Amino acid sequence: MPVKFKGLKKFQRPMLLCSLCSNCSATCCSFKAYGWESYTPRARVAMSRYYVEGVFKDDAKYADRLYNCTMCKECEANCSAGFSPWEVFQAARIDLWTAGKAPAVLKPVNTNIKETGNVLKFNKDARDAWVKDVKQKVATDGKNLLFAGCIPAYKNGDALKKLATLYHAMGMPLSVIPGNQEACCGLPALDSGNADLFNELVAKNIQEILKLKPDRIVFACPSCYAFVNEYYGQESADFKKIPLVFYTDDLLKGIKEGKVRVKGFYKPTRVTYHDPCHLGRFSMLWDSPREIIKAIPNADYVELMNCKDHTACCGSGGQLMVVSPEANSKIADKRIGEVTEKNVQILVNTCFTCQNTLQGAAFRSGADDLEVLHILDIIDDG
Ligand code: SF4
Ligand code: SF4
Repeated sequence: MPVKFKGLKKFQRPMLLCSLCSNCSATCCSFKAYGWESYTPRARVAMSRYYVEGVFKDDAKYADRLYNCTMCKECEANCSAGFSPWEVFQAARIDLWTAGKAPAVLKPVNTNIKETGNVLKFNKDARDAWVKDVKQKVATDGKNLLFAGCIPAYKNGDALKKLATLYHAMGMPLSVIPGNQEACCGLPALDSGNADLFNELVAKNIQEILKLKPDRIVFACPSCYAFVNEYYGQESADFKKIPLVFYTDDLLKGIKEGKVRVKGFYKPTRVTYHDPCHLGRFSMLWDSPREIIKAIPNADYVELMNCKDHTACCGSGGQLMVVSPEANSKIADKRIGEVTEKNVQILVNTCFTCQNTLQGAAFRSGADDLEVLHILDIIDDG
């Protein structure tokens, strides 16, 4: 059964709960980037309410405000009325996409996914190209199945090779979906408002995964992890029974058992961690990355002001990196500002997209003594 999404009309009553208190505004990264009231969550809710009632009719302005949002869910975490502005925005995007009023720049993204199964329009057959160098360390039984995700598979093959090596060392080799049949998890389609394509991808992935009868699925990308967790079980009861695991939980266990080792700093070094929205706020998984970092000899761990379920977005979520690269950069710059004010020397990420975005912001900031690393960079090659 395809995942059923509600249209904006179904949110008319919940939207009335918004008292315009503005509790959600100050921490909204989109508002921080633009500085205009109409880019606050409460303004988006009010606009949605008047749009669905037919009072506000400016399609272009409405689409601009709704898509210039990272879908980071921070407004839901802060809403004093206890409802989810995020669900309103998701419904609004689905309505706008269906009516052909979504930003035109999102169309190629959706065409790429439809034609190649990935957002980047890479050759479908190259999805598992990283496997050839570690073939002897990758299982074929499908039991400990890796869901690689588009960005790791095509852009971060070296990291996946290392992950495969580490899992092999832990005695639980990863398998991949054979024949390059893994497809995009569907998040970029859903963020575009394209619920039909999202459902197509969910159905395809579930079909391929169930053929393998996996004991568990390991995720290399926080966004795939969050959205597969949230939606795939709604489509298939059999899928819902499969345990889903984010790789840092396994690596921490491997460290505790002495099968995986962290690298060390030769002198005390201030280190912090950026919770990706999809891991921190959406999945509430924040302990294992911190414990791994704290296990590094000489790591002086400091916490950022906005962390865990109140983490600040890197700026790339909600397809903002496609809709407005400028706003994306401004938000990333603000996040890096939070890091530099703590005099941190190493910022660790668990998400390849956050990693890339924050690396760019760190470079722009001119903070020569700040290094932005992926958590796999601080783990020994094994
Ligand atoms: S989802 Fe994030 S960016 Fe969008 S309105 Fe809410 S707090 Fe702002
Ligand atoms: S916190 Fe909730 S009730 Fe208050 S303005 Fe924001 S969306 Fe409305």
